[in-house]
Amino acid sequence: MPDVHVPVLIIGGGGCGLSSSLFLSAQGIETLLIERHATPGRMPKARYLNQRTLEMYRQIGVDRAIYDRAIPIDYASKIRWRTSLGGDGPLDRRTIHEMPFGGGGPELTDYREDSPSDGALYPQVRLEPLLRDLAAAETLADVRFNHEAIAIDQSEAGVRVRVRDRSTGEAYSVFADYVVGADGGRFVGPSVGAVMEGSSGILDMATVYFRADMSPWWDDDHAMTTWFINPSGGLWASGVLGKLGPTYDRHSEEWMFHFSFKPDDAARHNDELLIPRMKELLKLPDLEFDLIAIGHWVVEAVLVDRYRFGRIFLAGDAAHRRPPTTGLGLNTAIADAHNLAWKLAAVLKGFAGQDLLDTYGEERRPIGERNTRWALLAFENHPHTDLALGIKRDDPVTTLKNLERFFGDGEYSATLRARVRKIMEIQTMEWQAHDLEIGYNYESGALLPDGTDRIEPDPLGRVYKPSTRPGSRLPHAWITAGAERISTLDLTGKGECVLIVGEHGEAWKKAAAELAGAHNLPLRVVAISPSGEWQDETGKWSLLSGIGDDGALIVRPDNHVAWRSPTSSPAPAHSLKAALAAISKRSEHAVSAESSPEKGTEHVGNRA
Ligand SMILES: Cc1cc2nc3c(=O)[nH]c(=O)nc-3n(C[C@H](O)[C@H](O)[C@H](O)COP(=O)(O)OP(=O)(O)OC[C@H]3O[C@@H](n4cnc5c(N)ncnc54)[C@H](O)[C@@H]3O)c2cc1C
Repeated sequence: MPDVHVPVLIIGGGGCGLSSSLFLSAQGIETLLIERHATPGRMPKARYLNQRTLEMYRQIGVDRAIYDRAIPIDYASKIRWRTSLGGDGPLDRRTIHEMPFGGGGPELTDYREDSPSDGALYPQVRLEPLLRDLAAAETLADVRFNHEAIAIDQSEAGVRVRVRDRSTGEAYSVFADYVVGADGGRFVGPSVGAVMEGSSGILDMATVYFRADMSPWWDDDHAMTTWFINPSGGLWASGVLGKLGPTYDRHSEEWMFHFSFKPDDAARHNDELLIPRMKELLKLPDLEFDLIAIGHWVVEAVLVDRYRFGRIFLAGDAAHRRPPTTGLGLNTAIADAHNLAWKLAAVLKGFAGQDLLDTYGEERRPIGERNTRWALLAFENHPHTDLALGIKRDDPVTTLKNLERFFGDGEYSATLRARVRKIMEIQTMEWQAHDLEIGYNYESGALLPDGTDRIEPDPLGRVYKPSTRPGSRLPHAWITAGAERISTLDLTGKGECVLIVGEHGEAWKKAAAELAGAHNLPLRVVAISPSGEWQDETGKWSLLSGIGDDGALIVRPDNHVAWRSPTSSPAPAHSLKAALAAISKRSEHAVSAESSPEKGTEHVGNRA
């Protein structure tokens, strides 16, 4: 196998690496992706793709392929807590609690108000093959499964990675300008001395992935996940069953069941026990099913100390790993890939300085930290709800008594149920985290702050407050041009920044035209106004834009606002220059028609 030179090498072909490949192809950057396994992962793992992830895929046209195959969010709109699916005892087949899963339930209208994209349920076991096929079909991408990184070193000039083709055992070298380490933390991070901080080995988990007709017992077409609490208590007292599709409703063909264990529990690797115990917990002793696979995984809450090591960047699980609660693992991984891709492209094309690449960690590490903490908190909520129900793992007699009281008649039982409903509200942190998913913003990075106060996030992660303060995700509003209707989020994404102006934006347009140099960040000007290209027919944009008719905003290729001027400027060209310099991390002097590409990067931009 000959040695390879490539602008970007991606190590790891999971959701993060494959998305990196797709985002970089969309930006016109040549990549090589290597993945040590011959085929994508065999376990379902992540299944919830949140709205922000689908917005990112919308920019590159991948969202359609997912919606065509995934479970629509309204068929994943309910979370339940039950005693069992089968059995005829007084406590069997009882629903303890249920709550809407945000974005699919009654709040769907609110979610749709804030985004052009619905979330979706699409297990990683089907997403990864789809992403692999889409990535490999791109002419700029070379996707090699069964190829493993075995050594890595870097100099100022680039990174050299030794790769082994596992089908032949042959090794070759890849010389890359930059490396995206999307290997789940297995090789790149340890090789560059990255330190993972936080808690490892919180719990051992086992997942049984199987095919079965559950429709006689799973009596709700819209339920996505059900927690089972066995009144008899004991080691196997609880577990979680999740629908995987492909059929949306109770006729879903595939399912996954998770058990948790303490890390010192001797039974945790005994696969022989898992299936009988799953049947026992569900109270379906005669359940017929085909086992697809059993997987073991460890719950951690860890964050890497740095996201950048010279020309090597860590992304996804290589940078942060957390409990699956709130579904933030893959979604955060894809958002990392999205943030890094436009920055690598801007530097490789000579539009931006090397320092832009520092803003990847500056922006994404606080989000990685926040999401890791959040997932851990949501994970820790489950013992609180067990406590509210009176479930005592080591005391089945008391557990049974408490559940009998819970389901009993009379005032006392009604109070117990009302109390549990109150305590269960805490679970909205896991299942209705709308603000957490789409409302995050960057305090510093590739942007120019405007001195306004931080938008305080909802401490419970639900209520999203749209804003155009620099660092925020551009608010969504539908805008129209004749019969065409797009989202404001559709204005960006092709590697260019967008200057949004209003009805009196002539001075901004003129200034942008003056700055339109070959080596500046491309800046497209768009007017959203009665006489502009796009009309704000519903009036929503003017409510959310944060600028007047003579103001302007710059939105980055990843939909985040980088700069805002609420009104006109006495020196618009100067204001825009300062904004572009802050985004591209080049001096204001360099931001002009005469500027030249970063030293040492021009050959790559041309090649791409
Ligand atoms: C049960 C479960 C449920 C989950 N549910 C959700 C959810 O609902 N939503 C959500 O967002 N997240 C969820 N997650 C988390 C999610 O699965 C991970 O965060 C996600 O897989 C991270 O993707 P990644 O690409 O960063 O890493 P990985 O998926 O770990 O991919 C890394 C890849 O790198 C490859 N690799 C490793 N070393 C090398 C090497 N030396 N050379 C080449 N390749 C290499 C590996 O083979 C692997 O394919 C869940 C996880 C589990 C276990």
